Amino acid sequence: MKISPEVLPRIIQAVADVIEKNAEEVTQLDQAIGDGDHVVNLQRGLHALQGQSAEIGQLDWTAALQKIGMTLMSTVGGASGSLYGTLFVTMSKSLRGQTVDLPAFAAAFTQGVESVKLRGRAEAGEKTMLDVLIPVAQSLQAAATPPPSFKDVLAGITGAAETGVEATRNMVATKGRASFLGERSLGHIDAGAKTAQLMISAIADVIASSAAPT
Ligand code: ADP
Ligand code: MG
Repeated sequence: MKISPEVLPRIIQAVADVIEKNAEEVTQLDQAIGDGDHVVNLQRGLHALQGQSAEIGQLDWTAALQKIGMTLMSTVGGASGSLYGTLFVTMSKSLRGQTVDLPAFAAAFTQGVESVKLRGRAEAGEKTMLDVLIPVAQSLQAAATPPPSFKDVLAGITGAAETGVEATRNMVATKGRASFLGERSLGHIDAGAKTAQLMISAIADVIASSAAPT
């Protein structure tokens, strides 16, 4: 199972579209327990990536992920900017010199999520994007060996992301701005977990419809 970086322009477009479509809902989530800028932050990064997307689609995986990470780091801002920047730059490093098949990609994503945990000094259960990213990494790792059908991998990560985002509703935030609210953050879904879930689903949809698994 190999996917070419040529799919990246479509992924960038799909991610930008899903964030645009859900902008109002996510902004309400972030206004309830954060400062309400999460969507605007992400959109700044996604617009920058749209401007670079033709070029990104021509790079190899290492260079493409590095460029995506650096662009997100310098444009998104907020906590999410450095966290997503770290995710992609670490994935790039992990894939250097590797054949990018599913196990290598799963390992790279897992290392990327580990680097987000280090950067954010956060673990699972603290009501952040990590409550989506960690179960998605676990699902990818589990799916990567032995290789199941491509469809199962995509269904697995989409399901893990959905369970993860819903779980943040009953968590007390201990990281990010929502942590200022303590117990009052209970009952609200975390905005960053929501956007992580939306973006992962959009990416899975693009891959499902475009990747001729080889
Ligand atoms: P900021 O909180 O700086 O305004 P954003 O609004 O762009 O940044 O992003 C907020 C999201 O970032 C939160 O909803 C949460 O999911 C995530 N987040 C915040 N702090 C952390 C952290 N320390 N570790 C992991 N994720 C975090
Ligand atoms: Mg914010």
